[in-house]
Amino acid sequence: VRGKVYIVGAGPGNFELLTLKAYRILNEADVILYDRLVGEEIESYIKSLRDKEVIYVGKERGEKGERRQQEINRLMKKYASEGKVVVRLKGGDPGVFGRLAEEMEFLFQNNIPFEVVPGVSSVNAAPVYSNIPLTHPEAGFGFLVVSGRDTRRLSELAKSGTLIVLMGGCTAKEVALNLIKSGINPETEVAVIERGSFEDQRVTFSTVRGLTELENDFTSPALIVVGGVVKLAKKYSRLIGLDKIRDRKI
Ligand code: SAH
Repeated sequence: VRGKVYIVGAGPGNFELLTLKAYRILNEADVILYDRLVGEEIESYIKSLRDKEVIYVGKERGEKGERRQQEINRLMKKYASEGKVVVRLKGGDPGVFGRLAEEMEFLFQNNIPFEVVPGVSSVNAAPVYSNIPLTHPEAGFGFLVVSGRDTRRLSELAKSGTLIVLMGGCTAKEVALNLIKSGINPETEVAVIERGSFEDQRVTFSTVRGLTELENDFTSPALIVVGGVVKLAKKYSRLIGLDKIRDRKI
């Protein structure tokens, strides 16, 4: 396949919260497939761009998500096969309840080169636009992001969902030991991401148990992702050419 698909986060809807990278790629694209959540202002902007096919692929009222996804996949493949640069534009950040895994899997299966461009998530934007900090020294020790679709499982989440640990680069070992103490499966996958999104970003893959055996030699800033989602990054790293990966699963 000669074309390429960019899965791009549009931010929470405010035009100024579109990233410069998203803006550049939108201007370079041949085809833009966009969702309802991108907001009216961004929608009218992309429609005003010249010489592009701009296609609404959001769900219609009452439509099944699965059917819609198949149609989106078909369009991504069709245009990429024609050698076009396709932007799959999504609300917020594509990695937050945005079907990123399904779309990467489809592109991977079909050997279509892709790149994911982060967006400002509503997780970040909505509270801060309301003057609410997500963390506070007097309000617990962090936050989990969960879906309101399945409220029965919220209490299980600490053990079965994704945990993002900030400021844990130099205490990674202790973080892992404490996770094991609180009952997490020691074989749960872990990624330590140093200088995320910089040129010299480095990702170390391990498990919670493996992390207890690593030196705390991570470059700042670093964050730790704990959970099954890490498996995907390892799988797709070949296609997206992340070459600075240390696989240190012990
Ligand atoms: N990928 C998106 C989230 C998709 S799930 C992101 O990163 O923001 C859709 C949910 O996101 C909505 O039901 C709503 O809860 C939330 N959401 C998206 N945009 C929002 C906004 N501008 N303000 C408040 N919530 C928003």
